[in-house]
Parts: sequence; C-alpha cells; structure tokens
Amino acid sequence: MTALETPAVRVTGVRKSFGRTEILHGIDLTVRAGEVVAVIGPSGSGKSTLLRVLNHLEPVDAGTVHIDGELIGYRLRRDVLYPLPDRVVREQRSRIGFVFQQFNLFPHLTVLDNVTLAPVAAQRRDRREVEREAKALLERVGIGELADAYPRRLSGGQQQRVAIARALAVRPRVILFDEPTSALDPELVGEVLDVIRDLAEDGTALVIVTHEIGFAREVADTVVFLDAGVIVEQGPPAEVLDNPNHPRTRAFLSRVR
Ligand code: ADP
Ligand code: MG
Repeated sequence: MTALETPAVRVTGVRKSFGRTEILHGIDLTVRAGEVVAVIGPSGSGKSTLLRVLNHLEPVDAGTVHIDGELIGYRLRRDVLYPLPDRVVREQRSRIGFVFQQFNLFPHLTVLDNVTLAPVAAQRRDRREVEREAKALLERVGIGELADAYPRRLSGGQQQRVAIARALAVRPRVILFDEPTSALDPELVGEVLDVIRDLAEDGTALVIVTHEIGFAREVADTVVFLDAGVIVEQGPPAEVLDNPNHPRTRAFLSRVR
C-alpha cells in the first residue's frame, strides 16, 4: 500500500459491550484496497460482532470504523462524534456487501429482485441498468438461469451464490462474509468457495470469517486470529497458520485441524 492509498477498512480502538459484558476489547484493523483478510478464532470470540460493527449493524461503544475513508455511523465535529440519521446510515451500509451464514434472502422476492433491491431502493440507481448488471452478476456466480426463481426452490449453495451476487450488486468497496459455508451441506461448500476465490482475484477487499483453514491459507493475504475479543495475532497465512507466534493461536489451530 502506498501512503496515499485509502484503506478499504480502517478500525481503530473499537470496543463493544452487550449489557455489562465487553465483547470486543479495543480492535485495530486495517484492510487495504483489494486485500483478502480471513478472520479465524473460537466460537464466541467476537468474530460476528466484529463484522456487524464494521457495517454499523451494531454501533460501537468506543473507537471508529472508516470504510473507504468514510466514517461509518457518525459525524465528527470538534472532536465529538455525533450519530448520523438512520437514513444516512442505511445508505452507508448499502455500499458494504454482507454475506451471512444463513443466506438471509428475502423469501417473497425472486432471485433477481433480491439482487436489485438495495441498488434500486437504497442507492436510488436506475432500475434497468441495475437489472442488466444483476443478470451479469448472476451469470458470473453460475446461476444466470435462476433469475426468476424464488429462494425456496434453490439449494443452499445456489442461495449463497445469490447472496454473493446481491453483495456485489451494491458495487461495494468491501464485502464481509460471516462463515459463508457453515450452513451448507458438505458437497455444496466447494461451489461457494469457488465463487469467493474468484472474487479474491479481482480487487474488491474481502473480510471472511471462516473455519475453513485450508481455504484461508489459499486465498487470504492476511489471517487475523481473534480470541476473546482481542486480535492475538495477524499476518500472512504462512506465519499465522503454519508458524504461529502465540500459544493461543497454536492451541486453537491444533483443535480445529
Ligand atoms: P463468534 O461469531 O466469534 O462466535 P459472536 O460475535 O457471535 O462470536 O459473539 C461473541 C459474544 O457476544 C458471545 O458471548 C455472544 O453470546 C455475545 N453476543 C453476541 N451478540 C449478542 C447480542 N446481540 N446480545 C448479547 N450478547 C451477544
Ligand atoms: Mg459468529
């Protein structure tokens, strides 16, 4: 990264509690434009909360999140953060792709309408242009023929590919994936990983929470190990996965392999 390049994601000092329990204890994380970051860590360590904080589905208690240089959820004036109106937050969020473990497609909308909804409704782009782009995205993820189908007719792997096309349709600077293959039957995991692998090649920053350690090693530029709300270790896969510094990383990896 050159000094001039704006990171896709910049998280500084983020803390997040639920009730009296602090879940994220001061997270600092930078994702460069086009970088692929895999986040690994034990169940309950705060991985989903971290992703949800990035697109302001959960407001932070301290710290800041910038996406593509833009402060998310707040306006900074004279060193004080003021919450942005919901309408503005929705528009900010509409430019961040999010792929959930459980797909979260709208069951009453066709595949095509699932993909076009955010660009048309939240981004107010021209419907015909968005539909053209959406059809091309469905082709790209290998399900062009399913544009008029409803989600319930689709396999899990097909539904997740719709969700990925939907995430791409907002022309995001970053796409966040929360265990995108965990809800899939084993024989459908490969087709979804293939699509993500293809995205990793082409310049959109990706943050992928995953238990697929082999996949992380293959596609990630950087692996982040999160444990108990702290980033314990981060670096290239060859370091974090194959030669970890921290005993907690080693212990986790020995359990999942
Ligand atoms: P991970 O994705 O790494 O498994 P999560 O981010 O889902 O972890 O959860 C981290 C911790 O925060 C867990 O103890 C979980 O129970 C708690 N938590 C997550 N979301 C909420 C919530 N909305 N309200 C209360 N506690 C929550
Ligand atoms: Mg989770």
